[in-house]
Amino acid sequence: MTDSPGWRRWLNPALADLSAYTPAPGEFEVRLDANEAPSLLSKEAQEQLALRAARIDWRRYPDAGSTRLRDAIAQRCGVAPEEVLLGVGSDELIAMLLRAFGRDGKSGGGVLTLTPTFVMYRMTARIHGHQVMEVPLDANWGMNPDAVSKALEMFQPSLIFVASPNNPTGTMVDMDHLRRLVESAPESVVVVDEAYVDYASRHQLALFRDHENVVILRTLSKVGFAALRLGWMLGRREIVREIDKVRLPYNLPVPTQELATLVVTELGDELTRIRDSVVNERERVAAGLARFAGISVTPSEANFLWIKTETSAEEVYEGLKAQSVLVRSFHKHGGRLKHYLRVTIGLEHENERFLSALAEVV
Ligand SMILES: *Cc1c(COP(=O)(O)O)cnc(C)c1O
Repeated sequence: MTDSPGWRRWLNPALADLSAYTPAPGEFEVRLDANEAPSLLSKEAQEQLALRAARIDWRRYPDAGSTRLRDAIAQRCGVAPEEVLLGVGSDELIAMLLRAFGRDGKSGGGVLTLTPTFVMYRMTARIHGHQVMEVPLDANWGMNPDAVSKALEMFQPSLIFVASPNNPTGTMVDMDHLRRLVESAPESVVVVDEAYVDYASRHQLALFRDHENVVILRTLSKVGFAALRLGWMLGRREIVREIDKVRLPYNLPVPTQELATLVVTELGDELTRIRDSVVNERERVAAGLARFAGISVTPSEANFLWIKTETSAEEVYEGLKAQSVLVRSFHKHGGRLKHYLRVTIGLEHENERFLSALAEVV
């Protein structure tokens, strides 16, 4: 045994400063750390899902093209089936985009992101050998158009990732800023990640309709069905056809295809109910937080709140954890994020537990 076995020399060099994605381990009475929806699914809907699952033919491979589900998503979004690509969560679509596009980034072709944002853009880009340029969001967590233009001049990205609503800030990118970005980067693919669109006051499908270099990402994960791992991309058929080439065969398991089709075609009312309840609670919790001295909240278009603490976020995070309430802290990122927590909106009693635990800490 040596400290450094021979196989290490063949490892992808990007792995040296990456670590595996591991959600916080442990049992907590209230878990508001992962932006999942609260458990609000009706008994009837749960029974419908169980019945459908009971009819699955387990020995068969799935439909490789996920035809029925793709048609159902296309219909729900008002696009053609050829404009839809399905993935194992939007995470898989992010990876497919990064496999299909870009070079080493030295002669252009890297990846541009607006930070802070969803960490998987950077991690997955690095693993695929892309250079990543991060343009910081402004003081109100909006896009800084001048900084973005400068980055575009220097960098010529193949892919630009924009989460709107953004994770972790809950803010949307100004539509004029976004449109200008798309128009000033006609040779880049602009990926508008709408993972939280169900909780937002508007969507950005018009960009996809008006510009051939825009694709949209959506997912069932944040509206009550994280267990299914279904995400989809909307894009021009030419783009979809190219990215489909890097998709692994049978990527979507039969249970996902069957149950997601049921969700998309028959459980629309359930999704609306979950959304309405979360949005109500979000505003109630934000109002509750406004009464705390030393706490401020950014207005949110998502199912979580981006909270600034006067003392260190780590202290507040640990104090909540000691009371069995788990949230997400960004103190490890340093800089201006040292004072920020992200708290998912849960059921009313979970949110109340969070507020009273917070009162103990600050
Ligand atoms: C959670 C999240 C995703 C991942 O969604 P999956 O469909 O579960 O892979 C994508 N983008 C953003 C911005 C997210 O917050």
